[in-house]
Order: sequence, then structure tokens, then C-alpha cells
Amino acid sequence: YTLSLHDALPIYHAATTPLHPEVIKVMSETMQTFFGNPSSIHHYGRDAHTQLELARQAIAQQLGVKEHEIIFNSGGTESDNTAIIGTALSKQAQGKHIITTQIEHPAVIESMRYLEGLGFEVTYLPVDQKGQLAVSEVEAALRPDTILVSIMTANNETGNLLPIAEIGALLREHPAVFHTDAVQAYGKIPLEINENSIDLLSISAHKINGPKGIGFLYKRDGLSLPALLHGGEQEEKRRAGTENLAAIMGMAKAASLHTPEAQQAAAEQYQTFADVLMDTLAAQGVDVQLNGDPAHKLPHILNLRFPGVSSDLLLMKLDLKGAAISTGSACTAGNVEPSHVLEAMVGKEHPAIRESVRVSFGYGNTLAEIEAFAQLLAETVLATKK
Ligand code: PLP
Repeated sequence: YTLSLHDALPIYHAATTPLHPEVIKVMSETMQTFFGNPSSIHHYGRDAHTQLELARQAIAQQLGVKEHEIIFNSGGTESDNTAIIGTALSKQAQGKHIITTQIEHPAVIESMRYLEGLGFEVTYLPVDQKGQLAVSEVEAALRPDTILVSIMTANNETGNLLPIAEIGALLREHPAVFHTDAVQAYGKIPLEINENSIDLLSISAHKINGPKGIGFLYKRDGLSLPALLHGGEQEEKRRAGTENLAAIMGMAKAASLHTPEAQQAAAEQYQTFADVLMDTLAAQGVDVQLNGDPAHKLPHILNLRFPGVSSDLLLMKLDLKGAAISTGSACTAGNVEPSHVLEAMVGKEHPAIRESVRVSFGYGNTLAEIEAFAQLLAETVLATKK
């Protein structure tokens, strides 16, 4: 069976996602109707400002947080940079020690490396073979001079869920600021910001069928955090620059489509997809292993190892047939660097590093498509195996 390019949707919803048609509609209407600058005094500006605040209200309400705790910005990378560098700069009198993990997104890891260059000390906590972090590691690493703990809610390569609630509980007894990159988890599972004592949380719209280049940082009320961008008074002087209203409206629309009921229904659908995929591979005699922690993972991401099969070759062959999957994170795509996440799990020398691919499901995928993809994957793996 060959998927034609026309009937194939990408099996690829972790690096980014296609825009939902309702998002496109709202964005297009916003661009036509609300082109005013939300900071302008005249009615075009006031109308745009009203829309901006309605979007903020909807997003905050859905998350159970206050409106002014939402700072709109350009997405996950900016949120991570602002949270991490901002906290370090504002708390350096209290200490210069920061805790994170070895499996964070480059937006977090590279912010940490930048801070190391400025004299901060960063502990990169290890994970086990399943990519799981032990809370006891966080506890052991905490010091009186620890000012920030930044640990992702869910990993973008394996889908693993990290023990955010337990870390939040631990940090209630410690003054360190708690930041979590929730970019992959948003819209997939409920985010319990208050319950988990989260101070800062990063979000990006393009993982939830919203536009690229837009997102927000949740900042707990009362936490002082210097701005990264200086200029106008937008976002209460916390993020200067004329707001991208169409993208913000598109993000709010995308968020509104991810109700708890929709998340639950999607999770069940993706579980069925995963079962079909794994059953088909087994029926075809394909040797496959799941990388990650099956008991604690996001429903839409599967990181699969095919022993003896080069992931790069597999990816190219599938691409020629119209199916798009990835090796590790697309944010490091273009370079053939092995995945730092898998390296942290199994060690740099392990063959799994070169034999693993990420399959991710999302809006628009159908069961028929997954069945066809599973057949194609099985055939291609068998044909590629050494
Ligand atoms: N953090 C995680 C976990 C991600 O998966 C991504 C995705 O690319 C980012 C941060 C970066 O977000 P953005 O693409 O909005 O800068």
C-alpha cells in the first residue's frame, strides 16, 4: 500500500500542528476587522484592545488563573527564555544555583548555558532508562542558594509526563521559583497551575492547532520578573511590542477547542491509534520497542525503536511515500545531532539513539489513515532492516 500525497495527512503533531479551520477563520476576520493598534486611543484601537482582553480572559479562565497572570509573547522559546533568564537576574542576590533536567527543550537548555556563562551554576538532573525523573533527585539537588527549578511538564520527544505535582509540593517548603515548560502538555492534559504551586509556565499556540510565533508566559501574581524586551507599555510593561492580535485571537480560538471533554476524547482516539499501530507492527513480525514511560505519558506521542533499522533511512523512505514522522525533536532538525533526550535515557553509545523515531497523532488523523500508515511503516521497517 502506498499513501498518496493527497490522502496523507502528516503523522506528525509534536513538532507542530496544522491550523484548525476555525482558527484560520477567526484570524482572517480579526485581520480584516480589528486592524487597529490595541494601544491606540481611537475606536479602532479600543476595539482591538477589547478583543485582546477578551482573548486573555478566555485563556485565563480556561486555565483557572487571573487574567493579568497571562503575558502574551512569541511562544515557547520566548517564554522559556523570559522565565529562566528573568528569574536568574532578579534573584541573583539570593543565590546563583538553578536546577533543571537533561531532557529539557533546547529553549530551556540553551538559556541555562547562557546563564552558566554569566556565572550561574546549573544542575542538570539525570533521568532513568524510561526517561523518568525521580523526585528524590530534585530533593537531593535543592540547596539554600537554589533560586529556580525548571522542569518540563511533558517531554516533546517521548511524551513522558514528569512528576510536576510532587515537585510543586516539594517546592512549597523552599523559596526557589518553580518554572515548567508546558508547551507539549497544553491542550492535551489539564494543567493544574495553582494546585501544583507553579510560578511560571510556558505555552505555545502552534502545538494546539493555533498559529506559530505566538504563545504566552503564565506568571504568578506577585512574582517579580524583569522583562526581556524593553520598549512600549504593552502587557503591563512586561513584554514590549505591538501585540499580534490576529495570532492571539487564533490562539484563544485554538485553546477554546481543547475543552476537557475534547482532550479526553482525543486521548481515547490516540490510544486507539497507538493500539492499532502496535498491533499491526506485531502482526507483521516487526521488532519494535517503545521508548519512554508508558504509564506516564501524553497520549499523542510514541517514540519507537526498531532495532537494526537506521532511523534516518526510515524517515526518508517514509517521507517519499508521503508519511511524515521525525527522529527526536524537529527543533534540532536539519542537523544530524543525536537526540539529547535519548542519550540521557540510555547513554551516548547505545544503538537505540540511531534507531528511534517519533510518531505523533493529532487533529485530522483518521483511523483509516493510521491503519494505512501502520502497514506502510511495517513494510518499510522490514525492508530497511539490516
Ligand atoms: N518547549 C517545548 C517542549 C517544545 O516542544 C517547543 C516546540 O518547539 C518549544 C518549547 C518551543 O516553542 P516555540 O516553537 O513556540 O518557540
